[in-house]
Amino acid sequence: MASPIAHSFAGFWTFLVFAKQLQIRLAAQWRQYLPQLGVLVLLANLPDFDFPISLALLGNDSLHHEFTHSLAAGVLVALAVSCVWRIAPGFWRSAMICFSAYGSHLLIDLCSGRTLGWTNTGSGIPLLWPWPKKFSSPLILLPGVRHTRTLGAIFSMDNAWLSIYELLTCGAITVIIFVLWKRKLKSQTLEKRKLKSRPSRPTSEGPAHLLAEPQHQNRPTSEVPEHLLSELEHHK
Ligand SMILES: [Zn+2]
Repeated sequence: MASPIAHSFAGFWTFLVFAKQLQIRLAAQWRQYLPQLGVLVLLANLPDFDFPISLALLGNDSLHHEFTHSLAAGVLVALAVSCVWRIAPGFWRSAMICFSAYGSHLLIDLCSGRTLGWTNTGSGIPLLWPWPKKFSSPLILLPGVRHTRTLGAIFSMDNAWLSIYELLTCGAITVIIFVLWKRKLKSQTLEKRKLKSRPSRPTSEGPAHLLAEPQHQNRPTSEVPEHLLSELEHHK
């Protein structure tokens, strides 16, 4: 498993996707979306709650990396959270965003292992539970936390280095996302300014007979020819 640092970053990235989908202007509105950010970061860390629970209940980590690290658990949690609170308008949209945050944890754990590179050293997770087969990516991008079945072992030097590694790599990815985002926003603003500065009478460029057409069509259909009007007058 990766540390809560990498998983929290993944929750934050899910929040950015959520903000993009809902067209939220984060620079101005980020404060009112803090609860959503909190929930997504929590969901991205939730599967690893099985570790302290297992230690508390059984005194070992035998429950760790079991049902909680499966797609079935992700679907269940996403539906349950969306029943309690719609993080976004619409039940299914809300469920999808919650599932993405939970799923980000599974994705990161798939790519976590003992040695970085194409080493196939991941401990694996039961992605398709109840099928007991454990899945792991052959490409390891994050060194897993070494906990050796006890909570105290988490605070080791190895894990301190791992935390720094995650902070630097995930921080760099976040900076890249923000730079690309800002660049896109800037180009969109320039595009809007260009459109505004264009002449506001695009129809005047058309041929004269086509311009005259709509005026002709606008004549009320109830208009009665003059000879019929005089005939009516005559009958009165
Ligand atoms: Zn995990």
